[in-house]
Amino acid sequence: MTEIPVRTYDAVIVGARAAGSALALHLARAGLNVVALDRSTFPSDILSTHVIYPNTIARLDQMGVLDAVLAHAPPPLYTAWHHEGRMFVAPHTPIEGRDWAICVRRITLDGILVEGARKAGAEIVEGMTVTGLIGKGTEDDPVRGVTALGETGEIGFAAPIVIGADGVNSTIARLVGAARKRIMPTETMLYFAYWTGVKTRNTQDFFFEPPWVCAHFPADDGHHVITMNGPLTARAEIKDWDEYYLNRIRSIPALWARLEGATKVSKVIGSPRLEGYYRDHTGPGWALVGDAAHFKHPAGAQGIGDAFHAAEVLAGMIADGSWRHAYPAWREQDSREFYAFCKHLGEPPGNDSMRQVMDTYIRDPKLARAIVDVWARTVKPWSDVIPHVPGLAAVTGASIDAVLAPYEGERLPLAASA
Ligand SMILES: Cc1cc2nc3c(=O)[nH]c(=O)nc-3n(C[C@H](O)[C@H](O)[C@H](O)COP(=O)(O)OP(=O)(O)OC[C@H]3O[C@@H](n4cnc5c(N)ncnc54)[C@H](O)[C@@H]3O)c2cc1C
Repeated sequence: MTEIPVRTYDAVIVGARAAGSALALHLARAGLNVVALDRSTFPSDILSTHVIYPNTIARLDQMGVLDAVLAHAPPPLYTAWHHEGRMFVAPHTPIEGRDWAICVRRITLDGILVEGARKAGAEIVEGMTVTGLIGKGTEDDPVRGVTALGETGEIGFAAPIVIGADGVNSTIARLVGAARKRIMPTETMLYFAYWTGVKTRNTQDFFFEPPWVCAHFPADDGHHVITMNGPLTARAEIKDWDEYYLNRIRSIPALWARLEGATKVSKVIGSPRLEGYYRDHTGPGWALVGDAAHFKHPAGAQGIGDAFHAAEVLAGMIADGSWRHAYPAWREQDSREFYAFCKHLGEPPGNDSMRQVMDTYIRDPKLARAIVDVWARTVKPWSDVIPHVPGLAAVTGASIDAVLAPYEGERLPLAASA
């Protein structure tokens, strides 16, 4: 085999978006010599809607990139639910004084994260596709780096730890044999398009039209995201996605009225493949973070925030050497309740249950705030909301254990050490 040039680091990260750039930033701040490799160049887009909540906005601030994000003027958003002509609007419980969410397109956010990581001292190599491992990933022959292809040919990047932050179809997970586990199938799909020329407002609006939910998210730089989330079974009848999408939105007069004079500036994009999963999070010389490690239905809008949170936690554990056992154990504890809640979020709503929950949220602003705070992770669904909302347990499931039982044949290893 021809020798290839090899560069040496303390940590090599594959993927440089939400999880990869955040991890690179935290590791660089901890004094590690770190590189993140991405086959993409930045700024660039990736399939995702992009609402983030006060907990995640606070993490952007801690990473030193919030001002750059807010410079793109994403409006502060309270949450509004609409059903059968009734509605409520709720703010979040403030975190660092912010009681609102924002919606920032990935073409904006990911470029800012990459620059933030560079500023912290990390090296980010764009246009670099990882194709192989150095080391087999066994206890005798741990992963010690990766091989990658860039414009100038093949290069090796060596380090005592390689972290796959490379998304749902993770190359690192495939190379180390980390398969998806505890798969939670979903009954719904999510499609959306970008619009401009829509009057800006300070709410993210969810229009519940069972079995569909359409939503309007005012976003950065004058863009708006309009989504349709509905039953997978409808897919077979859809011949023309643009036409179907426009008809779906047209059927909601309050939403359609907002789009008068507006322009749809993208194709309808989205995915029917939204099933949740976990993968083993660590092995000899490797770890996974972000979607590579764990995915939940995007109706929960947690992927970006979870990627930041896990990156922060994993960076601390890499710095103190405890990552191999402590990181999977942390994930198990941190993720289980919201994973269970995503079973409910991935199901199409029904009119009867919507009437019941809307009755409660309209009558009780504290509970309305509590339900929207579930998305900011400051409120726990099964202890703080479900027992107080008549009819809700019937659609969410009575307990976390009951919901997860069908998917938990196999727990993450080392959970017992949590
Ligand atoms: C339809 C939809 C809507 C969503 N809506 C929301 C939402 O509203 N809020 C929210 O928080 N989350 C949302 N999510 C989830 C969110 O998009 C993800 O959780 C988030 O993108 C995960 O970030 P990541 O860094 O782990 O992976 P990604 O963003 O997927 O980045 C992975 C990177 O790895 C790189 N890569 C892959 N393979 C290689 C390789 N071999 N070599 C080099 N580079 C490689 C890719 O180029 C990519 O840049 C949504 C997801 C979907 C599908």
